[in-house]
Amino acid sequence: MAQYTRVSGSVGLITLQNPPVNALSAAVRQGIVDTVKRALGDPKVKSVVICGQNGIFCGGADIKEFGTNMSGPPLVPMIHAIEAANKPVVAAIEGSALGGGLELALGCHYRIAHSKARLGLPEVSLGLLPAAGGTQRLPRLIGVPAALDLITTGRHVTAAEALQLGVVDRVAEHSTVDAAVKFALSVAAKSLDARRISTYPCPRPSDFDALFEGAMQKVRQSARGAIAPVACVQAVRAAATRPYLQGMEREKELMATLFTSGQARALQYCFFAQRAVSKWNMPNGARWDTSKPRPVHKAAVIGLGTMGRGIAVALAQTGMSVVAVETQEKQLMEAKQAVSGMLERGAKRRGLTPAALHKISYSHDIQAVADVDLVIEAVFEDMALKKKVFQQLSAVCKPGTFLCTNTSALDVDHLASQTRNPELVVGMHFFAPAHVMKLLEVVYGPQSSPQAVATAMQLGKKMGKVSVAVGNCRGFVGNRMLKPYIEQAFFLLEEGATPELVDRALEEFGFPMGVFRMSDLSGLDVGWRVRKGDGLVESGSASGQPTRLREGRRYSPLGDLLCEQGRFGQKTGRGWYQYDKPGSRVARSDPWFHSFLEEYRARHGLVARRIDHQEVLERCLYVLINEGFRILEDGIAAGPEDIDIIYVFGYGWPRHRGGPMFYAGMVGLATVLERLEHYRQAHPDVPYLQPCSLLRRLVASGSPPVHRWREVIKKLHSQL
Ligand code: NAD
Repeated sequence: MAQYTRVSGSVGLITLQNPPVNALSAAVRQGIVDTVKRALGDPKVKSVVICGQNGIFCGGADIKEFGTNMSGPPLVPMIHAIEAANKPVVAAIEGSALGGGLELALGCHYRIAHSKARLGLPEVSLGLLPAAGGTQRLPRLIGVPAALDLITTGRHVTAAEALQLGVVDRVAEHSTVDAAVKFALSVAAKSLDARRISTYPCPRPSDFDALFEGAMQKVRQSARGAIAPVACVQAVRAAATRPYLQGMEREKELMATLFTSGQARALQYCFFAQRAVSKWNMPNGARWDTSKPRPVHKAAVIGLGTMGRGIAVALAQTGMSVVAVETQEKQLMEAKQAVSGMLERGAKRRGLTPAALHKISYSHDIQAVADVDLVIEAVFEDMALKKKVFQQLSAVCKPGTFLCTNTSALDVDHLASQTRNPELVVGMHFFAPAHVMKLLEVVYGPQSSPQAVATAMQLGKKMGKVSVAVGNCRGFVGNRMLKPYIEQAFFLLEEGATPELVDRALEEFGFPMGVFRMSDLSGLDVGWRVRKGDGLVESGSASGQPTRLREGRRYSPLGDLLCEQGRFGQKTGRGWYQYDKPGSRVARSDPWFHSFLEEYRARHGLVARRIDHQEVLERCLYVLINEGFRILEDGIAAGPEDIDIIYVFGYGWPRHRGGPMFYAGMVGLATVLERLEHYRQAHPDVPYLQPCSLLRRLVASGSPPVHRWREVIKKLHSQL
């Protein structure tokens, strides 16, 4: 809806009204068309101002309308009508002008933004492009390089940057609407010939071809297979090479391709899934909207290794006081330096002074945490040590302190049982580096109180994380699904693949790193220690003939054999690949490993066969997806969205493929099931390939779309 009033005698004021962000729904578009007509037809009105109610100009298209039969007036002619108006139209931008909101403003003859406003064309992040003339007007207004940057990244700019770029004409410090009305009065009689952006020639830079080639190369590299950034470059190129109307045709054509692509659907799914996971619920009925978090003013971190340092930074950046405890003197000294460096760099990036530095106090002594509201434990992954730490915390902390663990896979319930108040214990599973990575798994056990979960979820949000509440099991959601994925990659090496082939297939799919490059980065010794703890590693296997079965299940000792040789990955300069020196990051193919693999196969009577990318993807990804279905069946994740958000934000799953569970739906559940059955028959000693009953049930019930899986899961649980 849009409200119309006449102010200051001769200014028609149009106010968009569609809370919370005045999105351009059908009703709002109709409102704009009607009120613009009214203003232009009113002889008393000499100029027009468009603004949004509640201090927000316009957040863009109404994303809920995507995929439905759009009704109401379309955006493009509406914006053309504004631009063609014979009375000056001024956009008064408060809060934000994003996507269609900015395109609307670009159709106006003048733009005035509040100093706190943010502007941008974020369509690319939803798999689309700004198709209401954004790709054609913006380069005409601010030049090709700046427009390419804004449109292909979707980044938001501040009002100050927008002024510098020429997106807006003025910045207002106080009431933008008042300033815009005053301005509209002053330009009422001025000619509009030079104010219609669509009539501007698009500046053609001298290095035109090189510029577009560079831009294309850049987006292809960073897009990891996403098509929208590429289409954005093509649309801006059309602005620079074709007359405006032909450019608009090209914009429309490219948008039609994107709109019907699975990628746009996947990205829009992610957009909604990210919001859905904050509305968590637990199997016992506790929910986000009925569980009140407790405020956390002071928090502690125990253990300042890789993870503890990042967690301390993330906590301090929220502005709260942080107590950091580390028992090793050397580690403590190094941690202090590292944490200060991270805070300083973070503050510099944001143009702030690192006030958070003064919010951290360091100690060797666990007694220092006596008065904190919440503790996050990040000591070594060792159950005996963690148990001891939880017993100490339970004795030292004031009553009511929440005790959280950053364990990657250990039993949170078992740790809770070491304390006097197990209801105050939850897992807060961060990802490395903890001050950068967006994902946080909040792990609840049967005894965790809803308030403990709500508090951890709220703290995660405060730290800028995407938090997902999950149940307690080995590896929780993310690492539990990773296990069969890595196992398949090892088996593929035994059967004839190389690390290079497996990684290439996964990287072409869209992962930033294939499984072996990832393993080299995080350290082969991590998994080795876990397998040793599980009694899977046979001692001295390098010298003898390690068996490839454990309790009747196929097992690959390849990772153990490399660790026995001290090949821990990047940190030792050797792993699945070789590196110039320890710590170096550029993976190079290692002839040593290839001949080792050949010898290994020969020793075990394995005959290498040709393995293609399709098999790599099917075996690695479908087995991971299958475990995802088991997680849903077990009630560890509340819905497929939770799993997908965990994989997109924590494990590099390409966002334009929507997460593993969404992807399964895109491939077709029947296909996933059929391929799993096929591989299970070929490898009967690999239980992870056994299709999960929930997957079978979904296929039997006609493979419903992902948003309807919860109904099937509910039915399944009620029958158990
Ligand atoms: P790390 O080895 O880098 O650091 C552990 C630190 O804890 C060391 O500095 C050690 O001196 C300190 N410490 C040991 N006992 C202590 C005690 N009683 N009091 C105080 N400090 C003590 O380990 P990390 O990689 O940071 O992992 C920590 C935890 O986070 C583990 O549970 C791990 O599974 C989990 N985790 C690690 C990652 C990762 O990528 N490294 C990711 C997610 C979760």
